[in-house]
Amino acid sequence: MGKALMIGAGGVAGVVAHKCCQNPEVFQELCIASRTLSKCDALKAKLDGGKTKVTTAQLDADNTDEIIALIEKFKPDIVINVALPYQDLTIMDACLATKVHYLDTANYEPPDTAKFEYKWQWAYKKKFEDAGITAILGSGFDPGVTGVFSAYAQKHYFDEIHTIDIVDANAGDHGYPFATNFNPEINIREVTANGSYFENGKFIETEPMSIKRVYDLPQIGPKDIYLLHHEEMESLALNIKGIKRIRFWMTFSESYLTHLKVLENVGMTSIEPIEFEGKQIVPLQFLKAVLPDPASLGPRTKGKTNIGCIFTGIKDGQEKKYYVYNVCDHQACYAEVGSQAISYTTGVPAMIGAMMVLTGKWNKPGVYNVEEFDPDPFMEALNKFGLPWIEDFNPTLID
Ligand code: NDP
Repeated sequence: MGKALMIGAGGVAGVVAHKCCQNPEVFQELCIASRTLSKCDALKAKLDGGKTKVTTAQLDADNTDEIIALIEKFKPDIVINVALPYQDLTIMDACLATKVHYLDTANYEPPDTAKFEYKWQWAYKKKFEDAGITAILGSGFDPGVTGVFSAYAQKHYFDEIHTIDIVDANAGDHGYPFATNFNPEINIREVTANGSYFENGKFIETEPMSIKRVYDLPQIGPKDIYLLHHEEMESLALNIKGIKRIRFWMTFSESYLTHLKVLENVGMTSIEPIEFEGKQIVPLQFLKAVLPDPASLGPRTKGKTNIGCIFTGIKDGQEKKYYVYNVCDHQACYAEVGSQAISYTTGVPAMIGAMMVLTGKWNKPGVYNVEEFDPDPFMEALNKFGLPWIEDFNPTLID
């Protein structure tokens, strides 16, 4: 049916590639392109032998002309961007120049400021409409499946959704004193930023990690959850009509937070360059270099993740509650595709989003967040491709 160019060859890319190859009717050809060619070739070696034809290419995705040249050579139907958020705009520019569909899992970030905002990418809406191509933003788990869950709740269970609590829990243990589950630079920028939640039409900022609750998660048990800012709140606040409050919660252990506090206090999480032995270095990038590579956590991580959304609202004049979540087992993911559950829960929805575009189910010119499409075919695909979801119509609410 189609050809996909995947940019990036890290943790998430590994899962996307395996999942595309499990779905050869849709993905007939896959080109894996990234900065380090040897990583693309190593990934290709794990995939060979299936029906999907896999090729590789070296690519600096900070350079739009290089991306355009590769697109013109490979002629993909869609570009799946699972490099880093810094590359989103150069890749979108290349897609516009060549009229090829675009999909990513994280909003654009300027390298010098951590913002977690969609404004730069939403500014491309008219250009994508005029070019007749689709851009799908944030098709990972959160953002991604959390938006699809919201659209599904809206479509099937509510006349009006009033509150959404997104709860992202990782009860996995990798045995290291401190490591991040995905790209450390992006992860640490996310958790050291101010928190925020949406209430009555506006975002309210909070000090980092200052709001904490305990929530008893299905199949995981009671966990400390902390309120964070997260990018999908920005689009859900616009796309879920009548919404009054949205909060995002993530689990962190005492030990993780203590390590992070120390690193922060000594200046290691800063993104301001400093001079060291005559060279400019960014402390957070140096920290990334000394921490375990997230890709190496796969074989060591045991336990489960649980990510879902708790909704309250009104249906037929009655108050209603609804919780929908997925539970993923780190070791089962590793046995299937050689990655832990964090990369797995991001990579599967990226493949499904690309499948929605290639099969014409989510194909409309412009720039969209996932909750703006029909959730049903995506929800069906989650069950089929390894992220089955569970519904609870009487969940405990978070105060
Ligand atoms: P990794 O760091 O493991 O991989 C990133 C890959 O991108 C690497 O292969 C890297 O190449 C490549 N890359 C970086 N810069 C360039 C460039 N200029 N040109 C070409 N390739 C480049 O990250 P992850 O796989 O963990 O994360 C991938 C994306 O997924 C990130 O944007 C992250 O924010 C997002 N994400 C989204 C989630 C969601 O639920 N929505 C959850 C988790 C992650 P090299 O190997 O040479 O460094």
